[in-house]
Amino acid sequence: MDNAMEQRLIQLRREFHAHAETGWTEFWTTAKIAGVLKSLGFRVSVGKEILDLESVMGRPPKDEIANYIERAVHQGADPEWIKRMDGYTGALAVLDTGKKGPTLAFRFDIDAVDVAEAAEEKHRPFREGFASMNENAMHSCGHDAHAVIGLGFAEMLMDRKEELKGVIKIIFQPAEEGVRGGKAIAMKGLLDDVDYFLGAHIGMGIPTGNVAPGCGDFLCTTKFDAVYKGKAAHAGGAPNEGKNALLAAASATLALAGIAPHKDGATRLNVGVLHAGTGRNVVPSKAVMKVETRGSTTALNEYMYGRAMEIVEGAATMYGVELSVAKMGEAVDAFSDEELVDLVAEKALSIPGIEKLAPSVSLGGSEDVSWMMRAVQQHGGKAVYFVLGSDIAAGHHNEFFDVDEKVLSYGAALFADLAFALSER
Ligand SMILES: [Zn+2]
Ligand SMILES: [Zn+2]
Repeated sequence: MDNAMEQRLIQLRREFHAHAETGWTEFWTTAKIAGVLKSLGFRVSVGKEILDLESVMGRPPKDEIANYIERAVHQGADPEWIKRMDGYTGALAVLDTGKKGPTLAFRFDIDAVDVAEAAEEKHRPFREGFASMNENAMHSCGHDAHAVIGLGFAEMLMDRKEELKGVIKIIFQPAEEGVRGGKAIAMKGLLDDVDYFLGAHIGMGIPTGNVAPGCGDFLCTTKFDAVYKGKAAHAGGAPNEGKNALLAAASATLALAGIAPHKDGATRLNVGVLHAGTGRNVVPSKAVMKVETRGSTTALNEYMYGRAMEIVEGAATMYGVELSVAKMGEAVDAFSDEELVDLVAEKALSIPGIEKLAPSVSLGGSEDVSWMMRAVQQHGGKAVYFVLGSDIAAGHHNEFFDVDEKVLSYGAALFADLAFALSER
């Protein structure tokens, strides 16, 4: 990659960084990506066209979405793309070479995190004027870099497209944070014909110039909101007439923390938010809990989720309140195929800027790329998820997070090399 292209990718990353949009609100981001892909010559689909709407999780309510669309248009998003998205975000680029060959898919996630970006001189995006202009939305996980690596990669493919065979699909996935968007893409069936699937994350503790060719220990997870609805009453005059939603939620919280660990492996449960009540002298009629369960296998997460449901339902019965549960996100377990791990390792060392291989990273968290990897593998294809090293200024999801922009060029170049190699199979 020449210096001019490197500079262009850096500029583009800073633009995405400044327009940080959280899950399901990536309207400016999607329009920008779609515009670039179209100008490169890809067949582009966006929003509703690439999602199974039944599998969409944790999307903000309609009126909020309308505000985000308005914001994106105000910030210069192309209204034509906005119209085609029809309220949903994400993009897919397809290149059908017309030549016999495999179907390859590549995934890049594009959303920001619910974090207010640091406004201090020591934070480069602030100092150099490309900090997020959107309140409480910051690219503090590096998905701005992912989007740009995907676009740089797309350009490198088009530059030498006569050398490619088969079909190439490049997915720009919305709403990875909170594992809300991956399932909707996988369930749309876009991946059912894919022979090789590749995805990556930058950073994750791997320094600049290193690549970790495989990544394991994905935790399966389910995120849910539980809402208790009781009956408000005068706490002094008629407490017996009330139905106490706060007590139901508090009892459930303590019982959830008491779920027995499982002999078969790691499990987790967290009640991250509990809001209840309206006033000191009122029997609380409403309580909202935000909960997540995890497990190192699907079975272990199902065990945690199953026990959690018994408990939240039991608490509703105990206090005579109504319960509603909404699933807000979900990811399954995943594994990388050795064959592709080896190929990433082999190609990585031939890319300028990549000097070393790092050992396989243990994710210890969840990633909804797992839905896509599973969809491919269930149909007989192979999948890999790897880590592109990048020094980071602070931990992922921290308000001082920043990437080493060197990762943009060698990330795109590595994906391109892998695509050209796999296209020959
Ligand atoms: Zn993240
Ligand atoms: Zn991330």
